[in-house]
Amino acid sequence: MKIVRVDAEADDITYGAVEPDGIRLFHGSPFFQWERSETVLPISQVKLLAPVIPTKIVAVGRNYVDHAAEMDSAVPESPVIFLKPPTAVIGPLAPIKRPPESSRVDHEGELAVVIGKVARSVRPEDVGPHILGYTAANDVTARDLQRSDGQWTRGKGFDTFCPLGPAIDTEFDPSEANAITCSVNGEIRQEGSTADMVFGVAELVSFVSSVMTLLPGDVILTGTPAGVGPMMEGDHVEVEIEGIGVLMNPVVNA
Ligand code: ZN
Repeated sequence: MKIVRVDAEADDITYGAVEPDGIRLFHGSPFFQWERSETVLPISQVKLLAPVIPTKIVAVGRNYVDHAAEMDSAVPESPVIFLKPPTAVIGPLAPIKRPPESSRVDHEGELAVVIGKVARSVRPEDVGPHILGYTAANDVTARDLQRSDGQWTRGKGFDTFCPLGPAIDTEFDPSEANAITCSVNGEIRQEGSTADMVFGVAELVSFVSSVMTLLPGDVILTGTPAGVGPMMEGDHVEVEIEGIGVLMNPVVNA
């Protein structure tokens, strides 16, 4: 099932599932209790929103060997994690805003894990029931500020720096070799496979859950393959994950 969050009518934001004829709206939330409603809306009549608003976004640094190499960094011995604020989340087609403080705002196409049930100190072999599904993410990064600050909160934390979507795929298998690409204006900049992560999804969810309790809707960004690069005003950036879909966002100067 592909779960979306939509602005269906004026002020009426709800979850639904993608069906052949359109979006089948839900009563309730897929993170708690829900059921399918009778209403199916054509895709042209709804606005897709970020599929989830997390309480926190935990991101993983240097989780692809080729990206660690391009950053002149070693692959870490255990996952290196950092936080992005929930206020950075935007949905498909919403603009990424380049802040005036930065002259170098990069794309990082990533697979995002969406937590479905509370996870606290979960063993890798037990993470499955805690995951609702997977979506695409762009871990937008002000590279110059990330470097000059020496820690990453500002460089990774601006509003609009966490596009998510278009849907949460509940059947996606990250251990299969699914292509992950990031394109700017139709030109491929990043290309990798979800099977190439240094630490896989089960290990990452377990590791993070041993540090902080993961709540329903929380998101883990699993790292980016090589090819990160700048985005400029007027660009259209697409993160595509095979089987999940395409997350497209335009870029503007704030
Ligand atoms: Zn990243």
